[in-house]
Amino acid sequence: MFKEKRFYRIRRIHCPRLEPADPVTIFESLLIEGGAALVPRLAHMHPDLVLTNGNVLTLSEKVPRVEAVAVKYGVIAQLGSSMELEKGRGRGTKVLDLGGMTVLPGFIDTHVHLDDFGLTLRTLNLEETKSVDEVRSRLRERVKSTQKGEWVMGRGWNERLLMERRLLTRWDIDDVSPDNPVYLHHFSCHATLLNSRGLEVSGINRSTKPPAGGWIDVDANGEPTGFLRSNARFMAPVGLNGVRPRPDLAILREAIIIGVGRAVEYGLTAIHVPSADHDEIKVTQELAAEGKLPLRVTLLPKVELLPNILQVGISSGLGDDMLRIGAIKIFSDGSLIAKTAAMKENFEGEPDNMGILNDEKVFSNQILEANRAGMQIATHAVGDRAIEAVLNAYETALKDTPRTNHRHRIEHGSIVPKALRDKAKRLGVVVSTQPELVTRNGDGFEASLGEKRMRYTYPIKSMLEEGIVVSGSSDCPLTYCNPLKGIWSAVTRQSENTGKTIMATECVSIDQAIRMYTVNAAYVGFDEGRKGTIEEGKLADFTVLSADPYKVGESELRNIRVEATIVGGKVVYSRGRS
Ligand SMILES: [Zn+2]
Repeated sequence: MFKEKRFYRIRRIHCPRLEPADPVTIFESLLIEGGAALVPRLAHMHPDLVLTNGNVLTLSEKVPRVEAVAVKYGVIAQLGSSMELEKGRGRGTKVLDLGGMTVLPGFIDTHVHLDDFGLTLRTLNLEETKSVDEVRSRLRERVKSTQKGEWVMGRGWNERLLMERRLLTRWDIDDVSPDNPVYLHHFSCHATLLNSRGLEVSGINRSTKPPAGGWIDVDANGEPTGFLRSNARFMAPVGLNGVRPRPDLAILREAIIIGVGRAVEYGLTAIHVPSADHDEIKVTQELAAEGKLPLRVTLLPKVELLPNILQVGISSGLGDDMLRIGAIKIFSDGSLIAKTAAMKENFEGEPDNMGILNDEKVFSNQILEANRAGMQIATHAVGDRAIEAVLNAYETALKDTPRTNHRHRIEHGSIVPKALRDKAKRLGVVVSTQPELVTRNGDGFEASLGEKRMRYTYPIKSMLEEGIVVSGSSDCPLTYCNPLKGIWSAVTRQSENTGKTIMATECVSIDQAIRMYTVNAAYVGFDEGRKGTIEEGKLADFTVLSADPYKVGESELRNIRVEATIVGGKVVYSRGRS
């Protein structure tokens, strides 16, 4: 923790510096001249906040490291030595003595499902369960505290961690919850287990056909086991990942408050929220208006909203520094973990399974329209077949309506051979990827993809060095939005299960990894003028760390603690104080 000093002066001391101008004038000049023009004026005012005695790593080439930062009106006003900046303090200037702690530009995660994250944090956590019995006993407890007939929601079970090493079936849990329907979200977030009561309530029996892009697992006799993959999981009338009907707005609001609270504990100062729908947009906007968003949110509306957005004439970028509309979010395939990603070749040991490509005509047309309207586009594409189809669609759209600074995104970009990387680079496509999936599931990927494809599975270093802008993200709650964990994962690619390194040639440097969650993430959000580095005129967003990530050993990266998170010059999280 840092020491906090506040300087109150009873007597006015003459000070040659200018007193603050009227805020209205300041913001007018901000509007007219842009942030940069404001900086010389800000530097001549008493700052609102001064961070002193820090190891401030700016990630900017001009001044890579400073000791102190002064903040005025939520913007970085001046960088310098502690002595120099402390001199400029005035009445009410808050001074935080960092005692040598490290400060980075605020971390940004470009893919956080805020609603699901919050809702997930409210459900039964089965992430650490080691056996079927343990799942049963934890579920039994939860059922006891749930009203009869209500859904019991759980999450995070992973058959690879169970000593039985097999998928759960409804028969494992039926006797534990005879009256309550149960929904236990698989850790992949792309599959779920229902008990028999849950299947009944969802209208699923042995003659039910799965929806397009989904599977209902059955046993040797053709009976559903309760395990629903990909789109089939949406057949349950509850759940996570955007399942309808939604929880009511009050629960959603509570969930989002929980979600953003956890995000700032992880040191995040900004997140992008993909597939935002009516309710999530509405609740987030209300929270922003009430000043209850502790960090900056860029909403990526789900593609179903595209016609409405185009009708109204909204485009990416509408909003302010706290809440903004970003790219339109489109889907092209499934998940690598659930083996529904669209692959050019079959998954190992599953000769008929090349995953599922969504209707190419549909998503290509969505891309065409959104590009015409000047929107940024973020398309979920995991497998190489999907990525190729999406890049083709981007190419066609950009021929139809050429744009030089579109920054269209690939979300995930998991299986990316050289030819597709070249094409992405040529088209100016950026990639928002999730390093932690490599350390969490790398062994599983090896088993389902085989050696050849592993060479270009999450090829993060290749993408970066070939000149593609790659941002760091978590796909939270698939993995939690902990950037230090993501940085550790990108640098070590060390399996959390076996300790083995998953494709050492794709390990990135510590600097590259940190930039993925700062500089690159800012670029992906068209925010490089406001975020990503610590420079005068940029937003005063900082992540304060217990140690210097450039100096600790690689294995220690994930153990660095977030001491404080500062957004717009306001301490929104401080360890030991929340
Ligand atoms: Zn996602």
